[in-house]
Order: sequence, then structure tokens, then C-alpha cells
Amino acid sequence: MVLALLWARRGVPVTVLESASNFDRAFRGDTLHPATLELMDTLGLTGRLLALQHTRATCARFITPQRTQVVADFAGLRGRYRYLAVMAQVRFLSFIQEELAPYPHARVIFGARVEGLLEEAGAVVGVRYRHAGGVSELRAALTVGADGRRSRVRAASGLPLLRLSPGQDVLWFALPRRETDAGGSIDLYLGGPHCLVTTDHGERWQVGYSIEKGSYARHRERGVEPIRRALCETIPWLADRAPLLSEWRQLHLLSVEVARVRRWYRPGLLLIGDAAHPVSPIGGLGINLAIQDAVACANRLTAPLLRGQVPLRALARVQRDRAWQVALLQAQQVVEEREVVTVHGGSTLHLPMRGLRLLHRIPGLRRLPAYLTAYGVRPTRLAPGWEDT
Ligand SMILES: Cc1cc2nc3c(=O)[nH]c(=O)nc-3n(C[C@H](O)[C@H](O)[C@H](O)COP(=O)(O)OP(=O)(O)OC[C@H]3O[C@@H](n4cnc5c(N)ncnc54)[C@H](O)[C@@H]3O)c2cc1C
Repeated sequence: MVLALLWARRGVPVTVLESASNFDRAFRGDTLHPATLELMDTLGLTGRLLALQHTRATCARFITPQRTQVVADFAGLRGRYRYLAVMAQVRFLSFIQEELAPYPHARVIFGARVEGLLEEAGAVVGVRYRHAGGVSELRAALTVGADGRRSRVRAASGLPLLRLSPGQDVLWFALPRRETDAGGSIDLYLGGPHCLVTTDHGERWQVGYSIEKGSYARHRERGVEPIRRALCETIPWLADRAPLLSEWRQLHLLSVEVARVRRWYRPGLLLIGDAAHPVSPIGGLGINLAIQDAVACANRLTAPLLRGQVPLRALARVQRDRAWQVALLQAQQVVEEREVVTVHGGSTLHLPMRGLRLLHRIPGLRRLPAYLTAYGVRPTRLAPGWEDT
């Protein structure tokens, strides 16, 4: 959607095919990082965006029974936005959709499930998609697969996925938030057999409960009681609301994996976001990475698209701009995931805790985790000139 907006503003005809009937999802990534807020600034949109309901996380913390350690202190960043805006993704995407509405050459079609690629002489020339009225074809100078971690476009493209970490699974659920609850941080509770994560969404807490990869059926058999018990033991201040988690259908499974395609493109086709590189929810990096991929596409591909032809080398440049940054952040996630798996094995998180404490004692390095979460290794910004569009 962000890429569609960037291209629409530059006069590139663009069609977004969305398989769902709207953007509303029970659980999805909801963090807008400083890099994204600065992008919105460049587009003159931050004022209106931040007028929408959201909360602000000024730090991320690791909490064990022994201690609380700030991992990333966003308040200490030097930029204009010293927090992560936590905004329901449906609100953000609907806002972008409204911004797209004035451009007659931009369309968003809901209920349009891409099923396959149209190919001619080895090049992708569009997609075949299913909708309520049957099956249609859409031809395009460039097809961008931005269809998430289980990308159908990726599967149809034959670009193989390289798995970097077996990952874990996360069960998400919501509990009401009280006015008196402390907020303003994203907290990962460690040290017990399951990690729990809490994000403040204003009127509710979004809670994640990590389980071993592939253990969903086993947990389902046991029902919600063990999860309620873990919640009460690990986050005692939420215990009064634990009874509200009463049915299995309140839980939503996120299958986490860290993976990437070696090559993001083929003639006529480019993969971005989770389709090119599924990431772990650790650090809440997925949306930021996907949006910066979109920025790289806007920088590199707008002119070729306006000329009507996208050479392979332009697609390669998008990957060159972005892949190394994604690779570095994924490497960090793989290490963090290993630690989480160790926690599942029963041990505690001494090593990262010690490492973090050390990092926070070195003035030059203290800001590093916050900076990496906020911007990535080096943020991909819009090329000069976009302010005028
Ligand atoms: C529960 C949960 C919590 C998360 N928490 C965070 C967080 O706090 N911060 C963060 O940055 N990231 C988080 N993530 C990850 C983040 O949501 C993703 O990394 C990010 O949304 C990737 O963006 P994307 O546009 O590549 O893919 P997606 O956001 O997955 O969007 C893909 C879209 O394509 C559509 N689609 C799929 N298949 C087809 C098809 N065949 N045809 C047409 N349309 C199709 C889908 O309906 C979807 O709307 C979380 C993810 C989940 C599930």
C-alpha cells in the first residue's frame, strides 16, 4: 500500500490486489517506527496520521523474575520521533488507502486472490487472480509480490526460500487495559518455560505467548488453562484479567520463521517485504523493513516504470540497496531466537542480559539497539525531490 501511494504520487498507474475483503485483522504487526514516521513526514502526512488513535512505546524491555533491563531506549534517540507509534494496522492501511483515493490511476481491489503468474518468453507479464465473479488476468510492466510470509507470488515464481531459523510459534490474544496500568513500553517476559510479550494498544493489551515450533496441536489439546497459569505466574499484574482468556478461539497462531529468498527478482517480477524475507516478530522489525523495501522500489523503479520498461538491473539495484540490511538484522534475530529456544529448554537468559547490561554501560553503544530497531542498519530514505509530490 505504501509503495502504491509512492508510485501513484509520481503518476505510475498501480493496482493493488488484496485477497481479503478488507484490512481488518485480529492480529498483525502494529508498530510504526521512527523511519516510517520520518517517511510520512517527507510525504507531509505525519500530522494527520498521528491524529489517529495510537499509543507510544518509548522503550522495549526484557523482564525476568530477577530484574528488568531496558533493551532499547527510544526516548534517547536523536531524531524527531523518539518512540514507536503503536497503531492498529487496519487504521494505518485505511489511512494510506484514503490518501490513494484521489489518484484515478491507482486502484485497490479487495477480494482478489492472486493464484498464478502470467509469463511470456521467460518474463512475468502479470498475474491471474480469483475474485467473486471468477478468474481474471491483470497485465503489468512489473509485478511486485508483497503478499506476506506465505507468498503465493513467491511460490509461483520458483524463487526458493532459504530458511535461516526453525523459529518458534506465537499465540496472540488480547486482554483489556486499565487506566491505572503502566504503559509506554514493549515488554518481553523471560526466564520461565514460555516467553510472553505485551504491547500497549490503549484500550487493550496485545499479549504473545511463545510455544515450540510445531507444538500447536499439543497446546490446543491442553486448552487455555496452562496459558492462563503462565500468564498469572509471569505477569502477576495481569492475573486479575486472566479469567477473560476462556476459550481457545481467542488465540491466534503466528508461525514465526526467519528466512529469505537468495534472489528477489526475475524479469518482470520483484518480491518485497515478508514475501522476500519473513522475519521474526522480535524487535517488531517486519513493517519497517517492508516499508523501506517500498522506498527502495520508489527510488529505483519509478523512472523505468514511467518509461514503460523495467530492466533487470534496476530490480537488482533494489535488492542491492536492501538485502544486506535485511541479512544483518536477520542474523541478529537468529541469535536472539536461539536464546529464546534456550529458555524453552529451561535455562535463563544470563548471556543476553549480561551483554545488554554491558552495552548500556558504554555511552557510545547504549543507543545502538534503539537505533537499529528504529531505523535498521542504515535507513533507506526517499531520494531528494519527493517532498514536492
Ligand atoms: C501477530 C503478528 C504480530 C507482529 N508484530 C509486529 C510488530 O509489532 N511490528 C512489526 O514491524 N512487525 C510485526 N509483525 C510482522 C509484520 O506484520 C510483517 O513483517 C509485515 O506486515 C510485512 O508486511 P508485508 O506487506 O510484507 O506483508 P503482510 O503485512 O503480511 O501483507 C501481505 C498482504 O497480502 C495479502 N495476500 C496474501 N496472499 C495473497 C494473494 N494470494 N493474493 C492477494 N493478496 C494476498 C494478505 O491478505 C496481506 O494483506 C507481526 C506479525 C504478526 C502476524
